[in-house]
Amino acid sequence: MAQKTVLVTGGSGFLGSHLCDRFIAEGYKVIAMDNLITGNPDNIAHLMGNENFQFIKHDITEYIWVKGDIDYILHFASPASPIDYLKLPIQTLKVGALGTHNVLGLAKEKKARVLLASTSEVYGDPLIHPQKEDYWGNVNPIGFRGVYDEAKRFAEAITMAYQRYHGVETRIIRIFNTYGPRMRLNDGRVLPALVGQALRGEPMTVFGDGSQTRSFCYVSDLVEGIYRLLLSDITDPTNIGNPAEITILEFAKEVQGLIETKSDIIFEPLPQDDPKVRQPDITKAKALLGWEPKIDRHEGLKRTIEFFKTKV
Ligand code: UDP
Repeated sequence: MAQKTVLVTGGSGFLGSHLCDRFIAEGYKVIAMDNLITGNPDNIAHLMGNENFQFIKHDITEYIWVKGDIDYILHFASPASPIDYLKLPIQTLKVGALGTHNVLGLAKEKKARVLLASTSEVYGDPLIHPQKEDYWGNVNPIGFRGVYDEAKRFAEAITMAYQRYHGVETRIIRIFNTYGPRMRLNDGRVLPALVGQALRGEPMTVFGDGSQTRSFCYVSDLVEGIYRLLLSDITDPTNIGNPAEITILEFAKEVQGLIETKSDIIFEPLPQDDPKVRQPDITKAKALLGWEPKIDRHEGLKRTIEFFKTKV
């Protein structure tokens, strides 16, 4: 069988770089594309010099040109933490809209299959719990998070339009909170924030009263879900995430216990439109992909804390 080529947009980011590793390991040629506004070249440094790997520095909101055949495109380029998209609101909207349009145009030209990285944020502050794929969401379009939520909702809409009107093969994953090595210590997300604070002996910031919930998926489980979804024939959105739900306050206490830090927990104001609950319903992924998470939070946190110890 001829060697296949996969293009990963956002290829030097947290998830993008783990995907590059997985597809290199599976014997693919991998092209990572990134403009490095939130991606980090260190994440792919170990792949440089590999004959099956290529890095292209490019902003995909501009026309994308790639030489040769492409079989699959994993579209992961976007600022993805609340702090990042609050700092980069226009870039976040542009990459979700113009970037996704360019990716789909490239896919049409190359007859490639596209997998769009969508998000649980399309459900907004959800009124249905846990969230199932047929829930349409509760999003404030003009709030601070709206730049990300609406960009991803538009990205889903244009991806479905290219599938229906141009016959482009598409897959859509809705990713719930994911964590693991290569997250940025300062990306503002709860896990790097709390772990960094605990390792430095600083106060651990819990927003609001900490009763809001999240469900955290370890990165290797997510990558397995993405791999299976890409090669499946599921053309409508699919949740991938770990259903083990926890309040943010309990989560902070877990981190505190694992690090054996002297840091105290302090409370800070809850950001606007912060979802009160979030838990994926993964019935579909289980039934159609035979997928479910394997790494529990205790194990995942231990591995992630080891990584952050080398970064603090
Ligand atoms: N959060 C917190 N302390 C922090 C950072 C975040 O309590 O230092 C809370 C945040 O308000 C949210 C949850 O943790 O309720 C998860 O936030 P994150 O930024 O990781 O991503 P989100 O799931 O909100 O997109």
